Amino acid sequence: MENKQKNERDFKMEEEQKDLSNNSAQEDALEELEKLKMIEKAQLEKITKLRGQISNQEMLIEKIKRENIIIKEKSRKMIANSRESEYEMALRLSQLDVARAGGQKGLNEAEIDNLPIFSVDIDTPCCVCKKIIPQDHIVKSLPFCGHMAHQPCIDNWLISNKVCPECSTPVQEE
Ligand SMILES: [Zn+2]
Ligand SMILES: [Zn+2]
Repeated sequence: MENKQKNERDFKMEEEQKDLSNNSAQEDALEELEKLKMIEKAQLEKITKLRGQISNQEMLIEKIKRENIIIKEKSRKMIANSRESEYEMALRLSQLDVARAGGQKGLNEAEIDNLPIFSVDIDTPCCVCKKIIPQDHIVKSLPFCGHMAHQPCIDNWLISNKVCPECSTPVQEE
């Protein structure tokens, strides 16, 4: 009888100890869970921060792309413009070369520039290209015959000629 009581008491104590250790295991698990929650929170914050950085960089990339398009457009225009003026210059130089190679020396640049320029008060044909120069447009006239021409037309003609293209009157005094 005494033994039985003792056994019961032991059993009770064992049960209490089991409960205690169960409790402490549960506390450990809760603590672990708290730690994991903190880690998760910190990682979510990092992700949010990284997303912010990524969208900033995407905006920067978009901005750079737009700037690139503008720069490309500008340089395309600059290239087109310089090609145009290069072409005009090459044309004038080649006309000078042809004139000199052919031995047909025309007027020099200063003599060409000194010819009178004025605006016409009636429609007048250009003596070089034969097209009509409309009223109020600028013409260059030849001093001895008075024939008129577009300025670029007569300038190009006089690089290799000293006479009027219309009537062959000399442009300069002999
Ligand atoms: Zn002309
Ligand atoms: Zn003439």
